Amino acid sequence: MQKVLVTGGAGFIGSHLCAFLLSQNYQVICLDNFLSGRKVNIKAHESNSNFSLIEYDITKPIDAIASKLEAIDFIFHLASPASPNKYSKTSYLSNPIETLSVNSFGTHQLLDLALKNKSRFLYASSSEVYGDPSISPQVESYFGNVNPNGPRSVYDEGKRFGEAITMAFVRKYDVDARIVRIFNTYGPNMREDDGRVVSNFIIQALQNKPLTIYGKGDQTRSFSYVSDTVSGLIKTMFTDGQKGGVFNIGNPIEKTILEFATLIKELTGSKVDFVYEDLPQDDPKQRKPDISNAKDRLGYVPSVTLEEGLKKTIEYFNKSV
Ligand code: UDP
Repeated sequence: MQKVLVTGGAGFIGSHLCAFLLSQNYQVICLDNFLSGRKVNIKAHESNSNFSLIEYDITKPIDAIASKLEAIDFIFHLASPASPNKYSKTSYLSNPIETLSVNSFGTHQLLDLALKNKSRFLYASSSEVYGDPSISPQVESYFGNVNPNGPRSVYDEGKRFGEAITMAFVRKYDVDARIVRIFNTYGPNMREDDGRVVSNFIIQALQNKPLTIYGKGDQTRSFSYVSDTVSGLIKTMFTDGQKGGVFNIGNPIEKTILEFATLIKELTGSKVDFVYEDLPQDDPKQRKPDISNAKDRLGYVPSVTLEEGLKKTIEYFNKSV
């Protein structure tokens, strides 16, 4: 049985990834420090003998847990705060040093582990490496437009460093590593308190509170349902011959935030109003992945429509709020 390490395995995307890997009969080691991950996301796996949890912070030296990290075949490195919301305790704005450390020192340690174990390695990067992009859609060869010292830089530059060190290990040590740039993903297991637009709008609509639109709402995002994002991660990891590959993973269907708010109103049947609040600093004006590379090289095609995915997400929040 092949052994897979998932860092951030109790997080939103990580928990779905663990579930999928278990369904395919992999032995799964979930590593999480529960900064933004949650025990409830992995509760269903606790009784599965192929699943184990290491509660640890990989910004600390991993020698302390070395005996639990032997003979690993695949490493998915997802651990990192990911929400930009300044009001949320779990966001990268509230955890700036942790975010820089997990993507730099944390990534370095995991690449050393991959080298030692001859594991295949996947680094979960982000569409944030494009910053506030001046081209749309964003293609992997675009270098981005990032403020190197603004508030978002801890995440943007953290992810850019993570990509750089991943490629350095490919070039210098021939580690079989790949990079995915994950675009806005939504679905069950999202935290209700991390301030992302999807969870905010759904919860506000369900609680009959006005939807908080930042800026004029003319900025765009392209939303991917979590099962499609997980399928992208799986294809990136398990397709042979992709060493050093960099892939946008997301859904290219683009909406303005205002269109998105209107859709949430429709799908929840809520009559709430919109309130307009300040746009956060360096908030990207447009974001839409060009996924031709993943399509051509991995056969990646997202299949869940926004309406379908949002219905499932609304159902999830309906039960949990
Ligand atoms: N946003 C909004 N209202 C909210 C939360 C977010 O209008 O209550 C906007 C935010 O300014 C951004 C977009 O929605 O333009 C997506 O924000 P999110 O925090 O989900 O992630 P991002 O794509 O910025 O990383």
